[in-house]
Amino acid sequence: MSELQFAQSLSRLGTESAFVVLARAQQLAAQGKDIINLGIGQPDFRTPDHIVEAGIKALRDGHHGYTPANGLPVLREAVAADLHRRHGVEVNPDHIVVVPGGKPTMFFAVMMFGEPGAEIMYPNPGFPIYESVIRYSGATPVPIALREENSFAFSAEEVLAQITPRTRLIIINSPANPTGGVTPKAEIDKLVAGLMEHPHVALMSDEIYSNMLYGGREHVSLLQYPEIRDRLIMLDGWSKTYAMTGWRLGYAVWPEAAVPHVTRLCINDHSCVNAAAQFAGLAALTGPQDAVQDMVAQFDARRQVIVRELNTLPGVTCTDAAGAFYAFPNIAGTGLTSMEAQNKFLDEAGVATVAGTSFGKWGEGYLRFSYANSTANILEALRRIREIL
Ligand code: PLP
Repeated sequence: MSELQFAQSLSRLGTESAFVVLARAQQLAAQGKDIINLGIGQPDFRTPDHIVEAGIKALRDGHHGYTPANGLPVLREAVAADLHRRHGVEVNPDHIVVVPGGKPTMFFAVMMFGEPGAEIMYPNPGFPIYESVIRYSGATPVPIALREENSFAFSAEEVLAQITPRTRLIIINSPANPTGGVTPKAEIDKLVAGLMEHPHVALMSDEIYSNMLYGGREHVSLLQYPEIRDRLIMLDGWSKTYAMTGWRLGYAVWPEAAVPHVTRLCINDHSCVNAAAQFAGLAALTGPQDAVQDMVAQFDARRQVIVRELNTLPGVTCTDAAGAFYAFPNIAGTGLTSMEAQNKFLDEAGVATVAGTSFGKWGEGYLRFSYANSTANILEALRRIREIL
């Protein structure tokens, strides 16, 4: 019998419940159950062919070795050009650090600022990894409550009111997981103006869904505020926009002072992102964008279907999901808790969703539906849920 002594800190590390639901759904499917997966947050499309071909070509051309820890210079230049095209901003490619996906940036940002005694603010309900890694770092997580009556946008006034001398980092996310909420520009203006009074606070803006806004909305990037560039970490990546979740490719724009720290974290952690994925990412940014437009148009059509249909279920209401590919209906009227609804819908209807409480305590009474699935499957899933309710 071994007597392993794991580090205490591991007990503070959380998880992403969507992966737990995915495992359970796959287990049920393996038993022969017909499962419709509206649980996992990844595009149901294939990576566009020209991107795949660029990855294969890179391997054939012999790109088998290490690359610079912060990413290939040609890729970082392409990211800067893409940010100029999409957000109209100038970014120094030396401030861009390419990492394996969106998650490493949030992990490194929290490790850089988090320690016992520090406070870090994060959206709740929000992407569960924020709270998990804040706790892991030993810092105190301070939730930013996102409310349905505010269309799940954050309130700048509430964020600013929670700042203390111990606040090191504020995390925001728009368009948001799990709510689909988009924070309006006026609120972001207010936040940035208020932050001028608190020069000790850094900001991480998770903009991984920046290409997915609907109903004529336009993305507001925090990069568009030069007054906070020296303390902004802007996270984005290829996973959602180019249907590349499994390639593991993301990046962030960092404040100049943080670049040496994050580069050392990369060297200690993963050395560099695999070269073929970086060449695929280059093809994604420099090649035709029609596949992206096509995917977003399909998400928008499905969004309209799912929001309309959810609002016809007994005891369920759903706000207009403004971005990303999630609907976050209020299910309080069904009499079920979020976790009861998640389990009941999976076990009895074969429909995988994720309980709102998996995204923080402010998620009770809600359920996340990912509409990264076909319209036919979405309609069938809601038909089965209607029967149960
Ligand atoms: N940020 C948010 C808000 C997300 O929803 C996700 C993935 O679901 C990520 C970051 C992580 O993306 P990646 O798969 O590239 O690590």
